[in-house]
Amino acid sequence: MTQVIAIDGPGGSGKSTVSRLLAERLGAVHLDTGAFYRAATLAALRAGVDLEDGEAVTAEVARHRLEQEAGRMLLDGEDVSADIRTPEVDRSVSVVSAYPEVRRLMVDAQRDWVRRRGGTAVVEGRDIGTVVFPAASLKVFLEASPEERARRRARESGLDAEAVQRELRRRDRLDRSRATSPLRPADDAVVIDTTELSVDEVVDRIIAALGRVGEASPPK
Ligand code: C5P
Repeated sequence: MTQVIAIDGPGGSGKSTVSRLLAERLGAVHLDTGAFYRAATLAALRAGVDLEDGEAVTAEVARHRLEQEAGRMLLDGEDVSADIRTPEVDRSVSVVSAYPEVRRLMVDAQRDWVRRRGGTAVVEGRDIGTVVFPAASLKVFLEASPEERARRRARESGLDAEAVQRELRRRDRLDRSRATSPLRPADDAVVIDTTELSVDEVVDRIIAALGRVGEASPPK
């Protein structure tokens, strides 16, 4: 049986670190859906496609095989885990991910990934609880103050915190305002503000929430 724990939230809210540790503690697999959108963006950039042309972008993305193996993102079998974290991909990913046809391809690939693995999957992204797995066992939405999110991203990337904050703001605006699957908490999501919490504290809260779900609906 497959069980999904959905972790959504904006960039720098702690999704990736929390999701990885949560999966480890639960003995679950972990899927980073942002890496799929980043790899799709990299494919379009490498092909020199006009990113304003949704049809051309979709056709290019459809030509490639996207896979995630042991935390590495593969594009047609090539490990692109580092190449998808460049400022160029950061700048373009929210444009590519706003195209409904691109999203359809990504959602199919992500559902397929979880189906093939089976068991418990921690799936992180922007639309996991609302669109990709609306029947997830538990939905979590992580938030943090803009300053703290920028600080975390700047620490990871070594870039200037103010520039990082500007870029995060821009991407947030696009992600929250797009017509298809905008970033928002699912109505039944547990919302956690991680600004003042350690990673372990956030994971503990999620595991406690998972316990409450289990008590509310004991296995048949
Ligand atoms: O999580 P990460 O910052 O790597 O995601 C990069 C971008 O991919 C987001 O800013 C968003 O535009 C897009 N994305 C999305 N839906 C998801 C995951 C990511 O639209 N489920």
